[in-house]
Amino acid sequence: MLKVAKFGGSSMADAGQFQKVRKIIESDPGRKVIVVSAAGKRFSGDHKLTDLLYLCHAHLQYGVACDSVYDMICSRYLEIRDALHLDLDLESEFKVLREKMERGISQDELVSRGEYFSAKLMAAYLGYEFADSADWLRFTLDGSVDKEASYPLLQAIGGKKIVIPGFYGAMPDGSIKTLTRGGSDITGALAAAALDADVYENWTDVSGILMADPRIVSDAKTIEHITYSELRELSYIGAQVLHEQTVFPVREKNIPLNIRNTNDPNHPGTLIQENFSDDDRDEWFITGIAGKKNYTAITVTRSGMSSQVGEFRRILGVFEKHRVSVAYALTGIDCFSVVIEQAQLAAKRYTILAEMQTDLKPDEIAVDDGIAVVAAVGRKMAFRSGSSGKIFAKLGEHGINVRMISQGPEELNIIVGVKNEDYERAIEVLYRSFVK
Ligand code: ASP
Repeated sequence: MLKVAKFGGSSMADAGQFQKVRKIIESDPGRKVIVVSAAGKRFSGDHKLTDLLYLCHAHLQYGVACDSVYDMICSRYLEIRDALHLDLDLESEFKVLREKMERGISQDELVSRGEYFSAKLMAAYLGYEFADSADWLRFTLDGSVDKEASYPLLQAIGGKKIVIPGFYGAMPDGSIKTLTRGGSDITGALAAAALDADVYENWTDVSGILMADPRIVSDAKTIEHITYSELRELSYIGAQVLHEQTVFPVREKNIPLNIRNTNDPNHPGTLIQENFSDDDRDEWFITGIAGKKNYTAITVTRSGMSSQVGEFRRILGVFEKHRVSVAYALTGIDCFSVVIEQAQLAAKRYTILAEMQTDLKPDEIAVDDGIAVVAAVGRKMAFRSGSSGKIFAKLGEHGINVRMISQGPEELNIIVGVKNEDYERAIEVLYRSFVK
């Protein structure tokens, strides 16, 4: 059994968290490959190490002394080392890094040191080997991860008990490159895929993914089982627990992903995999509910529009030209609506509207702000009759007017557009009506 276990910033925040992590690792001999983030916040108002490192680099760039920030960074790690009585010479590493900073260091290399020092400390604390990600995680020249090169390199190190720093790897010339923010999740997924792990555990500070936003549904239950496709639907519209690119490497290899809580290690968390064999259990048909406020619907109307070839493309082309991403598109006989996040439109709104007016010569363009989108996601809705009817009936019963309806061909979700003011109530109604 091989488990790749990734521990996020809050699990690495101080010596107390390191102790919890070690207990978790020691409780299961399968946890042989550990991926770590940089130290995160210890309390609200505290700083994440990675943020401090970015700040340090900004100081260097503008020629402002960064010693106080650098000292904060070093002392966070020295405190952990000393509290855990580790015999690790961090001082000389800090000195070398400081000298490199004076000579000029890339932003990526400097900010990657958060994960590097976390991993060095954790390896020493566990008695595992430190396996630098610069030695196996390779990027191609266009900046994407080179799996063909990376996987065999990690396999060559594999078979041992190792701690890997998340978030970075190396370019073909050996220079350090980071993933995007929150990227240690991806490092963990890549390590799990490279080593064909039995499971990828992602340890964080929440007990898995909740069925609805707890700020709206205070007693929302944890999603026990969710498929990769459902997770994608939920994350697209709101619920973000993992970096959105995390699932791709593990999904390709059919490796289950388990989200767990370092502060509540006995909680089974959420298990994500391709499908589940217990799907016939007579349970509710909604896996999770997510949503977002502040969308704008732009509806273009012109009689005879539906019979004209290329009309929809022309409308969408205006948004493409202005690099505005369209979240949903809906059609009527002589009208076409696009639904866009209000923030995306922002300053481009009037240019886009003016351009549509001149290029498309519509009878009317209607702009509707203040729309919230709510998605009920559930694999058990697919190809079964009645789910959407039940959802609309409940919303209607509670006086919530549905302004837009969208369902993907996979029937994994039902998306409704409601007024911003009805957003919280719509989520609450769906949860209370369909989750027992
Ligand atoms: N430390 C990095 C960040 O804060 C990566 C991570 O924690 O996943 O974005």
